Amino acid sequence: MSTIDKFNEHVMHTYGRLPIVLEKGSGREAVDENGKEYIDFGSGIGTNSLGYCDDKWADAVCAQVRSIQHTSNYFYTKVQADFAARLCETAGYTNVFFGNSGAEANECAIKIARKYSFDKYGKGRHTIVTLVNSFHGRTIATLSATGQEVFHNYFFPFVEGFVNVPANDIDALRKLIAEDKTICAVMFEFVQGEGGVNSLDKDFVTEIFRLCGENDILTVADEVQTGVGRTGTFLTSEQYGVKPDITTLAKGIAGGVPMGACLASEKCAEVLSKGTHGSTFGGNPIACAGANAVLDRVTEKGFLDEVKAKGEYFRKKLMEIPEVEGVDGLGLMMGVRLKTKKAADILSAAAEKGLLILTAKDKLRFLPPLTITYEEIDKGMEILKELLA
Ligand SMILES: *Cc1c(COP(=O)(O)O)cnc(C)c1O
Repeated sequence: MSTIDKFNEHVMHTYGRLPIVLEKGSGREAVDENGKEYIDFGSGIGTNSLGYCDDKWADAVCAQVRSIQHTSNYFYTKVQADFAARLCETAGYTNVFFGNSGAEANECAIKIARKYSFDKYGKGRHTIVTLVNSFHGRTIATLSATGQEVFHNYFFPFVEGFVNVPANDIDALRKLIAEDKTICAVMFEFVQGEGGVNSLDKDFVTEIFRLCGENDILTVADEVQTGVGRTGTFLTSEQYGVKPDITTLAKGIAGGVPMGACLASEKCAEVLSKGTHGSTFGGNPIACAGANAVLDRVTEKGFLDEVKAKGEYFRKKLMEIPEVEGVDGLGLMMGVRLKTKKAADILSAAAEKGLLILTAKDKLRFLPPLTITYEEIDKGMEILKELLA
């Protein structure tokens, strides 16, 4: 029985998959079971931040596997301590909680926001504002937080206490915060990823922080997709000149091993006390070893400037294609509006030609490995140009 047949017989059909069985990879190239090579403009979904099987990353992960692969969180490990200290230092936060995914990191943020408010004001101040078109995960609570009606089906009842305002609508946000006294947090992505690679306006972000500051409402930045160097700074908040009370990370943080992290500033760093939260695998040593290797690389001098420069080069190349209407996003997180063609058609045609890309809503989406070279960008762009001709 073929791999695909076996899959279809035994794995739940929750994904629309391309008929490709990926077997291995190296650098920015994946190889399928027939030996066909693919240039990778997607990094999984922004997860393989250093590409496939980066030497130093693989060495760190393998060494950890051979030393201690896991302990319960009733013990300490050096690798988790080291990563926590370095991550907090790099991101400018006091404390971190480790989970295994973006949804888990956001669940943690939601719990901190609600308990922060409960501890200070008592019951009832529990509402979390999220933005229309946001995406915060697939668990019931993070689905409830997600501001897209298509996700609010089947699984009723959803979790109460989430309200949405349209992204970049300052008046709507002001009105909501003035009228609703049950709000404890505003949660947002600086660049909405799954929602179609839409950046928030600087003015809107500034207003979120002003209103939240005045009303003791926590700011929660979901940087699951935008964080860890993706947009050309370690956190995207740096480019907006703001410091969220809470930042969540996942996707690219450990270079392709599952990890989620919820960073809290001093104000809310001690909210989750003993027994109020946990995760069996959270802070797993293998994930922390991978994450340390990613952090080593992205904090190398000049690395993030290179991400920015490559992002600009990538954009320039895209804009040279007549079918391209415009390019949204920041750094190496890009969404392409097409004039006439359908993004989904391009995705499968690209794979056939040996190029892996992503889509978001009706846009092409690119999240190439942060280590991609200019030559590799050119190579992938040739394929794309042909497909969009
Ligand atoms: C992918 C994503 C999530 C969910 O992450 P999972 O690891 O799939 O749980 C949450 N928020 C944002 C912004 C994401 O891009």
